[in-house]
This record gives sequence, C-alpha cells and structure tokens, in this order.
Amino acid sequence: MKNFDKVTIFDTTLRDGTQGTGINLTLKDKLDIAAKLDEAGVDYIEGGFPLSSEKEASFFRLAQKENYKHSKITAFGSTRKSGNKAESDPYITAMLQAETPAVVVVGKSWKEHVEKVINTTFEENLEMIYDSIHLLKKEGREVIFDLEHFFDGYKGDSEYALKVLQTGTEAGAHSLVLCDTNGGTLPMEVLEIINSLPQKDLAPIGVHFHNDTGNAVANSIMSVTAGASHIQGTINGWGERCGNANLCIIVPNLALKMGIYTNMNDGLSGLTTLSRYVAEKANVIPDKSQPYVGETAFSHKAGQHADVIAKAPELMEHIDGKLVGNKRKILISGLAGKSTIVRKLAKYGDFDKQSEVVSSLFESLKEKELEGYEYEAAEASFDLIIRKSLDRFASIFDLSNYHLESFKTKGAKSKTVGRIFLKVKGIDHMGAAVGEGPVETLDEAIRDALIQTHPFLSKMHLIDYKVRILNPEEAAHAKTRVFITSSDHQHSWDTVGVSENIVEASWEALIDSMNYYYNNFVLEEDN
Ligand SMILES: [Zn+2]
Repeated sequence: MKNFDKVTIFDTTLRDGTQGTGINLTLKDKLDIAAKLDEAGVDYIEGGFPLSSEKEASFFRLAQKENYKHSKITAFGSTRKSGNKAESDPYITAMLQAETPAVVVVGKSWKEHVEKVINTTFEENLEMIYDSIHLLKKEGREVIFDLEHFFDGYKGDSEYALKVLQTGTEAGAHSLVLCDTNGGTLPMEVLEIINSLPQKDLAPIGVHFHNDTGNAVANSIMSVTAGASHIQGTINGWGERCGNANLCIIVPNLALKMGIYTNMNDGLSGLTTLSRYVAEKANVIPDKSQPYVGETAFSHKAGQHADVIAKAPELMEHIDGKLVGNKRKILISGLAGKSTIVRKLAKYGDFDKQSEVVSSLFESLKEKELEGYEYEAAEASFDLIIRKSLDRFASIFDLSNYHLESFKTKGAKSKTVGRIFLKVKGIDHMGAAVGEGPVETLDEAIRDALIQTHPFLSKMHLIDYKVRILNPEEAAHAKTRVFITSSDHQHSWDTVGVSENIVEASWEALIDSMNYYYNNFVLEEDN
C-alpha cells in the first residue's frame, strides 16, 4: 500500500447520481442534500453542469450564499471546443460564472474518442486540455481534471493516455481523475494500470468508477492501494446504467478496514441516516440489503446459526453496525424460537423464556404464520401483537364502517370513492376521499376523518406497498399478503395484512402502520 494518510471524498450524487433511472431532484432537494453532505464531511460536492439548465445554474447561485463547513462546491464542464479560444468558450465561461472554488473539467484521453467523437487531431486535443485547465487555474479555480474513458484509452495507447496526464499536470490541475466511464474495467487491471503510472511526476491521482461489472467499489479501493488519493462516487451508488461507486460502502471500508482517514470518518455514525435521507429526498425506496447502511445489513434470522444468534449475535457481524449508525435486528419468525421473542420483549422489560407471555406469544406467532402472516419484514405489526399481549396498546380509533366504490369511465383512469365512519373516544367522525386505488382512498379518508383530532398523521406517509398472492392454486380464493412501509422522515416501519380480500389485507396493514406510529411515537414520544 502506498504511504499517505488521507483520501479526499468527492461526491457526484447531484450530477452523475441524477443520471440514474428514477432519480429526480428539485432545486430545493439539491440544496438540502448538499447541506447534509457538508455536515457529513464530504470534501467536494459536484453540483452539476451549469450550462445544462436554469435549475443547474441557480443551484450554484444559491449554494454560494451557504456557509459550507467542509465541502467545496464544484461546477462541472468540459474542455473548450476544438477551434475555440478558452476565453470565449461557452463551457469554460459557464464554469467561471458558477463562481465555485473548484471546477471539474472533463477531457478525452482515449484516442478513438478524439478521432471519432470530437473529430479533431491528437495534438489539438492536448491543447484543448492545456488551455482550459490553464485558464481556469489562472482565474483562481482549483481544477480537477476528469479523464474520460481513461482505462480504455490507456489499454488502447498508453503513451497517448500518459501524455494527457502530463498535459493536465503541466497546465496546473490539482488532481487527475482516471474515469472508467463505461464501467468495464476489472480490479486487477486497475491495480496494474495505476501502478504503472509515473505518479511522482504527475499531479495527485483520483478515480471515478461506474459499476457495470459490479466492481465500482472494489476498483475504488484497489486504486487507493495503488496510490489514488481522491475518490469520486455517489450516495447509495446511484448513477447511470448500473450506478457509480457507492460512497456509503467505500468510506466505511477505508475507515474501518484499511485505517485510512477521510473527512467523513468523524461523522461515520451518521452514514446510515445520510443514506436514507438522500433516498427519501429522491423519493427512492432504500435498498434494504445495501452493505453497511441497509436495513438488513445487521439483521439476523435464526436457522442454521440459531445458537450463535441467541448467545452472541455480534459473532455473526463483520463490524458493529453502530459505527455507521445502523442497528442490529433480530428477525422474528416461528423458526426463531422463544429466545428471539425474549429479545424482542426486552424493549418492554425482562421476561423469562418460561413465562406465560413468552409462551402465548410463541403460540400466536405460530398460528399467525400458518395463516400467512410473516413478521420478518413486518416488525411493526409484531410490536403491536406484543403490546396487545402486555396491555400496552391503545387503538388510534374504532371503526364503525367504511364503504368503497370503484368506477371507470371509458377513456379515463379508474377511481375509487370512499367514506369511513369511526369513533375516537366514543365520538363519531366521518371522512371521505377520492383516490386512484382502494388503499390510497382509505388512507385519505381516515386522515380526513381524523384531521382535527390526530394532526400528527400528517407527519407519516406510505412509502411502499407490496402485494403477494399466497396460494395461487386456490385461484379466486387465494390469500393476499400485503406489506406496507411507512415513514415519518426519521424512522421507517413495516406492517403486514393477510386476507382473501385484498382490500381487507391492505386495511390491516394500513391500520397497523397508523397504530404503530401512534403507540410508539405519539403516545411514547421519548421511547
Ligand atoms: Zn460518471
């Protein structure tokens, strides 16, 4: 491993990350995310391409007014066009007008792209790079030079790729970022190529990987072992096609496994919150199995390892999840046995395996599982079962009745109209709503009925709804299992419902979700 003590972290969630399918951020989202990235200790935040739209340009105007503690906001653009003067080139002008302390200039290092894409000579490409970096540097910017398709370029003609690196260095680039733009390079090639570079004669090396072979994280780590001191990536690994290198994995690997310092190390215990915050802003369901920060990254299910999990779950974990702000979860299932139930109950007190509460919970869990309920992915519903058995449950309301009607007119989307009658502390309330489907309509009708008595409901919302048919051989009588994930921006929780009727199954999961929130966060705020 090369001898250096610090790696700088460059986040491109706001630029490359938004190239990912389904990732859309408003201007406000971008500013909110930038504030969180700064808090987390990110060194550079790539804000976008100021020339591409008014939204991008306004981001830089507004970001200028912020007082970032750790991060340098960075504008992205390319080298001047062939034949242009850097001084009057629109890309360079836009980067300057963004008035950021640092800029990223992308340039060509693969001969084939010089010939076939920008149709210019190899010499002119080098001059375009030199002029652009030189001018931006002269204007007081810190210039990060992104070498597009560097690894392919190096494999095609290493001498030319090296010349591009030297040109960037001579022009005054602060770092030379080797980009694997099509994501096709493997870790051993990365190691070999970076090791073969005359690093002491060049500006510091950085890397930017895409995940098309599933190796973006591995490649980034290999690069650090070969001497790279600047890593680009995105939160949650979002990006075009298969994504970019995932900073939520790279940073803890550097910090906890390799003993390398980044400015994000001090705030490492905020990483899980950061990952979920960014997902929430982008309206993307967080990947539960994401290493380090995923909801199941430290969850255990009995079975083969039942013994270890009952006695010492930490022996099944590669690190303590708390280091990255994550939590251990012991999944509940009939298979798990009484010791798991005892652990679940620990939140409410000390219970013995032989106690009546544990035995009756164990029995009802078995029964419920036979009916098709599953609590591994619906711990909030199980929490309510526990509360009921301990007499620590308060129902958010009592249902009198609801009524749903679905209608469709030719050429228009179908709609559902619903009304609900319910009681809160013996007093009748009525709510009504029109929605696209029955779940949305019921949810809205309940909120309508409780708008005065339960204003806290506006803080929680559904983020995911999943339906599964349990015994399809029964055709029309098949059972439906519904899972609902809800969130209040800080916590998320999952509930389940099972019935032969999909509306009834959804209703159960929906009411569990509201009751869970009510019992855990409204009645027991400090719990
Ligand atoms: Zn990229």
